[in-house]
Amino acid sequence: MNHIPLPQAPALAHIEIPVYESDSNPYRYTQPWLSYPARHGFDFIAIQVSDELHEYPGGLRSNLAAFVQSWLFFGVLEEFLGVKQDHDEWIVTTEKGHRVIRTSQLCGKLDAWRARIKQLDGNQQLEVRAGIDQVLGHMDSMHATLSWTTANIVQTVQVGSGSYHSDLLPDELNLSLDVLHNTLSLARNVVFPDAHLPIPTYTNSRLVHDQLAKNGWCSSEVSRLNQECSVVSGYFSSRLSILGSPTIHSKCSHWQCEAWQVDQSNYRPKHVNTLCDCMFVGLPTERIAEIIRVSQIPCLRLDRRGTGLELVAIDQRTPIRFTAISHVWADGLGNHAANALPHCQVRLIQERVNMIANAGSTPLAPSDDQPFWMDTLCIPVGSGFEDERNTAIAEMATIYRRSGTVLVLNNELNSISVARSPWELSARITRTTWFRRLWTLHEAVLAEKTVFQLQDGSVDLSELQTVVQEWDDSSKFQDLLCRMIFLEACQPYSKLLLFKSKSLSTRVRDIWTAVQWRNTSYQEDETICFANMLGLDLSSILAVSRYESEAKIKRMKTFILLQKYFPQGSIFQGDYSDLTRPSTTALVGLEWAPQSFVFRTRKSAPEHPDTQLALADELGLHVSLVALIPDKGWDIFTQAEMNSTVVGDLHQAFFMMPLEWDYFYVVRWDMARGRWDLANSLRHKTFPALILQQDITLVTDEALDLGEAVGRKDGTSMTRMFDGDLIAEEAREEVLREMMMEARGETVEEDYTPERRSFSASTRAIIVAASVMDASPDTSNTTDSLQDKRPRAKGPNSNVAVEYQARIIQHVEVQKEMFSTYTRAACKQMERYNGSTHSINSCEKWSDRVRWCIQ
Ligand SMILES: [Zn+2]
Ligand SMILES: [Zn+2]
Repeated sequence: MNHIPLPQAPALAHIEIPVYESDSNPYRYTQPWLSYPARHGFDFIAIQVSDELHEYPGGLRSNLAAFVQSWLFFGVLEEFLGVKQDHDEWIVTTEKGHRVIRTSQLCGKLDAWRARIKQLDGNQQLEVRAGIDQVLGHMDSMHATLSWTTANIVQTVQVGSGSYHSDLLPDELNLSLDVLHNTLSLARNVVFPDAHLPIPTYTNSRLVHDQLAKNGWCSSEVSRLNQECSVVSGYFSSRLSILGSPTIHSKCSHWQCEAWQVDQSNYRPKHVNTLCDCMFVGLPTERIAEIIRVSQIPCLRLDRRGTGLELVAIDQRTPIRFTAISHVWADGLGNHAANALPHCQVRLIQERVNMIANAGSTPLAPSDDQPFWMDTLCIPVGSGFEDERNTAIAEMATIYRRSGTVLVLNNELNSISVARSPWELSARITRTTWFRRLWTLHEAVLAEKTVFQLQDGSVDLSELQTVVQEWDDSSKFQDLLCRMIFLEACQPYSKLLLFKSKSLSTRVRDIWTAVQWRNTSYQEDETICFANMLGLDLSSILAVSRYESEAKIKRMKTFILLQKYFPQGSIFQGDYSDLTRPSTTALVGLEWAPQSFVFRTRKSAPEHPDTQLALADELGLHVSLVALIPDKGWDIFTQAEMNSTVVGDLHQAFFMMPLEWDYFYVVRWDMARGRWDLANSLRHKTFPALILQQDITLVTDEALDLGEAVGRKDGTSMTRMFDGDLIAEEAREEVLREMMMEARGETVEEDYTPERRSFSASTRAIIVAASVMDASPDTSNTTDSLQDKRPRAKGPNSNVAVEYQARIIQHVEVQKEMFSTYTRAACKQMERYNGSTHSINSCEKWSDRVRWCIQ
C-alpha cells in the first residue's frame, strides 16, 4: 500500500500486508501465467465454483493464501511489468520482526515500464496490451471466485449495498489485491488511452469500511464513497483519522443520514469554545425588517468599537460586494429565538470575512470591517415578522448571487491547514456535513464563488481542481495516483458544479442526482430550496404558511404545479417500501410525486440520463412510455404463486410477446407492499399494465453483440437467432427425433445443453391499474406539445388519441431473458427455468406513443 500517499498527521499509518508463507512449499511465481496454478496443484481454483471453494478446510487456508499471493500479487506484478521480479525487493521486515509487503517503488517501476512501452512499435504495443489485459481480467475473475459466495450476493441484494469479501482469504490479502488491480488498471489506461479497460468498483474491503466506521463516518457516507471512489481513494480516505464520534450516526441507514437534524425545541447557539460565556450580539429584528420592507439587503459588520453589530443596508442595484455565510445549523451558528449570536462567534466570522475580502492578506484595522450576510442574523425571526421573513427567504436567490463570495463555515474543517495537499483537502472538505444538507446545496448553486474556511485560510476547490488537472497523462504515476484521489474524492463538489452550470430551465433534469445524499431538518423548506435553484417565483409556495397542517404536502403540490415539467423517470424513483402511505385527498393526481425529493435516488447518476420531460398537472404526470399489457388481466397477478427469492418471498409472473420466440420477461412483486388493496378494489374497472422505464423489448442478443445501447428508439429491424436454414434444419430434426422417442414410449433426454449464451436486460418499471381517462373538461388542457403523438390504443377506435389513467400499484424490476433452446415449447422451458409449474403468459406491447397519466 505504500505507493498510495498518506494524509498529513493526524492520520493513520498504512495497513501492513503480511507476506503469507507456506510451511510446505515456498511458492515462487514462475511463468507461464496460465499453467502456474496447475503446476502447484491449484488447478481446481479455475474450474470449481465459488461456493465449493469456500468449503476449503480451515487448516489449509494459510497454504492457499501463500499460493494466491504468489500468483495474483507477485505473478501479476511480473506479468504486468514484463520483467522478472525479485520478491525480496517487495518485502521488508518490520521492527517487530514481521515480513510485510512494501510497494513504495511501484510507481517508479510503472514509470520505467511506460518508457519501455513507448519505445515499442505499434504492433508490439498491441501485443503487450493484449497480454496485460488478459492477466488483469484473469486476476479480477479469479479474485472474485476466491472472495465471493452466493451468501455475499444475497446480502448485497438484501441490504442494497455492498457486502464484504468472504473469509476464504485474509482481509489484508484481499485489500492488497484490489489495490494492486486498481493501480495497474489505472496505469494501463493511461498508457493505452484508446481502448479503455473498465475498472471494477472494488467496494468490498472490510478493513477500509471498519476503519471508516471507527473514524466516525456515517454508514450512508460510506455508501456514497463506494459509489464515487475506487479502492485506492477509499483507502486514502480511511487514513484520514477521526472525523467525529461514531455514536452520532447510530440511527442512520446505508442511505440516509439522520445526524445533524436540528430540533428547534432544544437548539442552542454555541460559543467558539465551550467555556466561553460572552454576551450575544445582534440587531433588533424590527430594524432588519425595515430594511427588507424597502427592498434592500440587510448586511452587517462589527461596529467601530468591535462590541456590537452595525447595519449596512445595501441597495439591490448598487455594486457593493459582501460575503454571504453558508453554514450547517447543527454546528451551532443558528438561532431560532433572536437575530443574534455569541460575540465570540461574530468576531471570528468578521475576521474570516475580512480575510476573504482582502484575499488572504493580514486582517485590516477594525474600521475596515467588511460587510457580510448570514441567515441567522439577517432573516427576521419570531412571530410578527412572517411577511418580512418570507420576503427575505425569497430574496436569498438574489443575495447569494449578488454576494462576491459565499464562505462556508463547517466545524469539521477548523483544525485543517490550507497547506495540506490538494487531494487531502478534497477528501476532507467533501466529506463534511455541509455536503449532506439541502440548504447548503441551494446556497452553493446560487453563489458565484464558494470557498471553504479552514484553520488558517480559505480554499476554493475549483482552483485546486485547475491545479490538479494540469497534470496530464504524461505526468509521473505518483502524481496521476494523487490526481485520481483528488478527482474521485471531489465528486460531490463536481456534481454540484455540473448542476450549477446548467441553465435554470434544464436543471430539473438533474434534480434527482443533485439532491442525492442530502437531507433537511424541515421538509416544508425543501420546496423553497428547489424553487430558488430552478429560478421559480417563490410566492405561491410561501403563501402556504409553514405552520399550516400538512404544510409540506401542500407546498410540494404547489411546487410541482409551478415547475410543471419533470423527468419522465420520476415515476420510477421508488422502491418496494414506497407507496405504502395512505392516499390523502390533498394528493390526488400527485401520488406519482415524492413527498420529499431527498433520499429517493440511490443509484449513481446514469450515463445516459433521462432527459425527456413530462408535464405535471392536477391530473397527474403525463408520460409516453412503453408498456407490457398482460392478456389475462389482473388474474396474472392475483393467481400468481409465491416464490422465495434472494430478496424474500415474492410473487412472480412470466410473459412472452407474440412472435418474440427467443425471449421472455420476468416480473416479481411483493403483495405485502405497494397498493394491492387498491388494485383489488379497482379490479373490474381497470386493467394492469407494466410501464417500463427503458424499452428493453428492443434489446436483443444480437443488439448487445453490436454494442447497441438499451432503449434504441427504432426497433423495427429486430432479428432473431437461428434464422439460418442449416440451424433450422437441425432443430427440426431434433424435434422430430424427440417426437419419435415419445411415440415409442421412450424417455426423452431432458438434459439438453443450453445452446445459447446467457442474456439478460432489465429495467425499472411500475405495475399500474390503468383505465381510459375520465372524460372531463380539464383533459383538453393537458394535451399540449405531445398532441401529435397518437397512441395505439386497444379496440376499434385506434385512431383516437387516448390517454390512459394509471395509478401506481408497485415499483418493480422487469427482466428480459432468453430461452435456453428453441426446440421446446415455451411453457416447458419455463418449467426448467423455474423448477415449478408456472405457466407463461402472453402480453401485448404498447409503444411509447401511448400516453399515460400517472396519478
Ligand atoms: Zn449519519
Ligand atoms: Zn463566547
